[in-house]
Amino acid sequence: MEKVVKALEKNGFTVKMFKDKESAKSAIIDEILTDESVGMGGSVTLQELGIYDALKEKGVTTYWHWRDEDKGNALRMSVNSDVYLTSTNALTEEGMLVNLDGTGNRVASMIFGHKRVYVIAGKNKICKDYNDAIYRLEHVAAPMNAKRLKLSTPCVHTGVCSDCDSKDRICKAETTIRRNPNGTKIHVYLVDEELGY
Ligand code: SF4
Repeated sequence: MEKVVKALEKNGFTVKMFKDKESAKSAIIDEILTDESVGMGGSVTLQELGIYDALKEKGVTTYWHWRDEDKGNALRMSVNSDVYLTSTNALTEEGMLVNLDGTGNRVASMIFGHKRVYVIAGKNKICKDYNDAIYRLEHVAAPMNAKRLKLSTPCVHTGVCSDCDSKDRICKAETTIRRNPNGTKIHVYLVDEELGY
């Protein structure tokens, strides 16, 4: 983990390490002010942290299409929120964030449009390099997400990506954030536990 932290810092990201998900969650809840609005990307990690409920309890205006009744409104309002929370599909030892998205809301918000972005990731997201990250995206993250969504993609049945033309395909927009982008402050919170997929 130390190697990844150093590489991410060299690439301009602000990084903190946490021993467990509870300490990471407390830090984020403390850092978000009650007059800030928060948008959340689709993320099993965020779900495992229970961060949506904690923000609501604090009185923070929070939008999450996984929980809000009006999913479309949550997606639209998240785009203009002050703060954006998400995880990442992979982090490389070279300090890059690699992601693959179906809708594209999550990967777009990671790059531009918010005062601060928090990326919370368990140690299981660490990959050696870009190729290793793509392998993880296509053989772990995408098949497991497709399964969670009850989709019928080839990878759900085989566990292997076939670069499919399925109508259910969830791999549509791939991003690699190589340096902290201009105009957005990305905070990477690395947790010494396995979180999400
Ligand atoms: S491209 Fe298709 S087969 Fe490959 S991981 Fe994505 S959904 Fe699965």
